[in-house]
Amino acid sequence: MNVSILDLKREYQYMKNDILNAINKCLEHQSWILGPEVKELEQKIAEFLDIKYCVGCSSGTDALVLGLRAIAIEKGMEFFSPHDEIITTPFTFTATGDAILRSGATPVFVDIEPDTFNINPEFITTYLQSEHGKNVKGIIPVHLYGTPCNMDAIMNIAHQYEIFVLEDVAQAFGGSYDNSKLGTIGDIGAFSFFPSKNLGGYGDGGMVACHNASTENIIRTLIKHGGKDKYNVDHIGYNARLDTIQAAILLVKLIYLDEFNERRKKIAQRYNQELSEIKEVKVPISIQESVFHQYTIRVKNGKRDQLQAFLKEKCIGTMVYYPFCLHQMKLFQGRAKVQGKMEQAEKATQEVLSLPIEPLMTEEEQTYVIDTIKEFFTKS
Ligand SMILES: *Cc1c(COP(=O)(O)O)cnc(C)c1O
Repeated sequence: MNVSILDLKREYQYMKNDILNAINKCLEHQSWILGPEVKELEQKIAEFLDIKYCVGCSSGTDALVLGLRAIAIEKGMEFFSPHDEIITTPFTFTATGDAILRSGATPVFVDIEPDTFNINPEFITTYLQSEHGKNVKGIIPVHLYGTPCNMDAIMNIAHQYEIFVLEDVAQAFGGSYDNSKLGTIGDIGAFSFFPSKNLGGYGDGGMVACHNASTENIIRTLIKHGGKDKYNVDHIGYNARLDTIQAAILLVKLIYLDEFNERRKKIAQRYNQELSEIKEVKVPISIQESVFHQYTIRVKNGKRDQLQAFLKEKCIGTMVYYPFCLHQMKLFQGRAKVQGKMEQAEKATQEVLSLPIEPLMTEEEQTYVIDTIKEFFTKS
């Protein structure tokens, strides 16, 4: 048997006719730039999330940058200044920290909670109480692997210190926290439609969700060069629109989103049951709340790389998200700050292993993954 970490062909087969019809419609109307499907997707997703405004854009990375730029512009600046600091996690995809730099601000990394892999609100407070705390303008919590951050604590801190919250929801589309959809709790939500994400297109794409009309307006101008009139602009903008054809595909895939997220949860439940027997494996928590963009275990006693190699030999694909923390990358040297030791984040880079959790994975494939992992630990 061969179980790859992700096989997107299956989803295509599952909804092939609808996808072909959707693309065909675009071919007929030829309205490629901000065509009717973009508007329809924005409306459907706004409804789905229960938020006022959604603006499609070119990627999840751009959604983060656009959100930050909109906040800076609302404060009367074109960009943030390096004096302005934004707190986030060092255990995330590069884009989270990179977006802060591109908005002109300085990232401040604080350590994570060992159980959720998400930013630890206690350390956010520690930094805000420090002498540099007054420079902090906002927080970017990342709902890593589809698991919600502790949004109660984060929103309380944000209100207390009067700073913004921009949720990085790239890995958690459809997830919720206390009956609110992720991406609607903070001031702005940034979503990614990268093909591998829970709601993925057939190329790059993203979306910004927000609560007020002025933020929406600024983002709408920024995605098309920075002006209402593209030949007479107000801001340093981007060409960062969502493609019509991607929106058409995403409209089809949105129909299956809840079903697929449920399938992910089911697989995670089964993995959890079976793998928690293994002494040297720590299975993820928050089964109820997570939408399992990744199913990520911790492997103890330095055996992670051996297990990964063993699974590869047995034709099971796995990934390490992430092998490096952001503060360890050259990009962030001298451009970012850290609050205390990044002990838990660095430990996570050594222990995490993400297993296949494609929604259409068969039970036999799941069994094969489970049995092969058990085989490794009885041998070693
Ligand atoms: C994928 C991802 C992004 C970036 O999304 P793109 O659409 O690839 O630009 C940002 N943050 C996190 C946490 C991600 O996983």
